[in-house]
Amino acid sequence: MKRSLRLIFAITILLTACSQLPSSITINLGSPTNTPASAATQVTPPTAVPLQPTVAPPTAVSLKPTVAQPTTASPTSAPKSNQPMVYISGTSHIETNRQTWPNPDAFINFLRQVTAAGMKWSVGADIGWLEGEARASEIIKTTEAMGVEWDIHAHKTEDRAKNVVKIKNLGGKPNTVISGLVLTELEEMRSPFKLSDGGTWFGDILWGYTLRPDHSTGSEDASTGLWKPKSSKEFYTHDANGNIIMVGGGTRDLKGAETLAKSNPKFAVTSATVMVNPNKLVVIDMDAKGGLGTDGINEIKSFAERMSKLSNVRFATISQTAKAWVEAGSVVSGSQVK
Ligand SMILES: [Zn+2]
Repeated sequence: MKRSLRLIFAITILLTACSQLPSSITINLGSPTNTPASAATQVTPPTAVPLQPTVAPPTAVSLKPTVAQPTTASPTSAPKSNQPMVYISGTSHIETNRQTWPNPDAFINFLRQVTAAGMKWSVGADIGWLEGEARASEIIKTTEAMGVEWDIHAHKTEDRAKNVVKIKNLGGKPNTVISGLVLTELEEMRSPFKLSDGGTWFGDILWGYTLRPDHSTGSEDASTGLWKPKSSKEFYTHDANGNIIMVGGGTRDLKGAETLAKSNPKFAVTSATVMVNPNKLVVIDMDAKGGLGTDGINEIKSFAERMSKLSNVRFATISQTAKAWVEAGSVVSGSQVK
């Protein structure tokens, strides 16, 4: 199907499905029809000089985004040269549905182990958990001390501002990552949100883009690179003057990240994310029914050990990956970007 037809189809599905969207949906990723599961292996190196962008060359303007740059710390092991790097992040989404909430101690323990193994984690929790989990403040503060970041994950656009304020009130430091976004929300995210505490919030980094809100097969973007999406209709077109940086998560499993790293992509900064269900503490599987894979903490730890031996791999949170991309010149990367 041509992209324009796919988009019309996706929008049609969206319009009919959004009213039925359960706010409690857990990540249930199907195999994207437009991106083979092996997308990570399909990164096409640029034919020109590796660090040249395939779209607009970086200009003084594009190196100075009009939006605030990510404010989080640099990866502890920032690359010292222009060697192409694969940034691997970890993430978990906590939904509003109480039945899917993590056991607080098990989740803290999990994050302690993955960060001790060197990985960097970004957690996105929706408003129901932030408001309803009695130990939310403790969990946020304990994990931030491990270097875990709290991204802004919401299934309703208006909840993002609430989530930012709630994380602050719980003693955390909400960042500027829009973690999870539905096709039609992109335009709504282009201007800052007013917060109930008098402040403003602008999400300048995007991770997890879905063409339909039901997380059904084929709805999730599986790109592996970074760019600035032009619009929801031309999502895979880079706009050097755009104000939101998309961080691709790839297929979000261990195999996808490892395959990408070993394919030695020539882009300055490429990215893949390992996504873990915080309740089951297993890596998701886009192809599995129910979206859950079988890789748990032991498999993640041995993955981290293997990856840490590769000279072209850096562990970073999603926001750190975006920051590294800006610092490397905002050169478009990824498997699908035009
Ligand atoms: Zn969610």
